Amino acid sequence: MRRVTPHKQSHKLFVLLRLFIACVVLFLLAYTAQFARIQTPGLKVWFFDIGQGDAIFIETPNGQQILIDGGPGDSILQKLSSVMWPWDHSIDAIVITHPDADHITGLVSVFERYQVKTIYETGVRGGTPMIQALEQAIAEEQSQNKIVREGQTFNWDGVQVFVHWPSEEAIQTQKDRNNTSVVLKLVYGSTSILLTGDAEETIEEEIGFSVGDIDVLKVGHHGSKTSTSVQFLKVVNPEVAVIPVGADNSYGHPHPIVLEHLKQVGASILRTDLDGDILLVSDSMSYKVSPVFLPF
Ligand SMILES: [Zn+2]
Repeated sequence: MRRVTPHKQSHKLFVLLRLFIACVVLFLLAYTAQFARIQTPGLKVWFFDIGQGDAIFIETPNGQQILIDGGPGDSILQKLSSVMWPWDHSIDAIVITHPDADHITGLVSVFERYQVKTIYETGVRGGTPMIQALEQAIAEEQSQNKIVREGQTFNWDGVQVFVHWPSEEAIQTQKDRNNTSVVLKLVYGSTSILLTGDAEETIEEEIGFSVGDIDVLKVGHHGSKTSTSVQFLKVVNPEVAVIPVGADNSYGHPHPIVLEHLKQVGASILRTDLDGDILLVSDSMSYKVSPVFLPF
């Protein structure tokens, strides 16, 4: 039988202790870097890596916080605790692009944990248990509810918001919830960002010219081939494309043809499945989009 001498045992303990201290120091450094980033002035937009779904968190230049969709599960709570101060339990606004599970499931937990001042949504409902859970959560929240329609504009603390979709007609006639998605263009100084929900090609064709040239495109429907046509890309001409998409998802998103379309217009591509969480920062004159390490 091998005998472990007290000397060897204390050496082992010493190595473990050093490893533990190194981990704590690394975590604190990451945490500090993250909160330093929260305090960076300007507009910040986080595209969270929450699997196959969308969850986008916006912080305006004076600290208003807006969450667009909540992703397919509870991991949104960890993401929010990475980008909000621990004592902050309120969110200025939540935008629900459309009530599909990969966009709304996490929102139920968000409504439980945070006070939400304003909810922007289309009013589209359906019979799924998840939609019913969301409806219940909205009913219990003491929020101001705004129904979003094409042509509206908002000003979120110096960030201009243009609603490009849905039209009232789409709400009345569209059978596919994806095509009732809220599509927003955010403009802060010379930086413009298009957030498309899961809107598909037919919608892109309708709105392309009114959207015009943009800097950053949140690619529609997780890179499905039903969105992101070349015609649309040529009109909006994005420099950067962000694809929120789950690793090894069963849909095969993003579709190779979508990646090809983006290459054709020279857009650089960032993907949450490969790059993790992604952060856009704009000081109104220039912007930067890059992967970012979140502590949680
Ligand atoms: Zn989706």
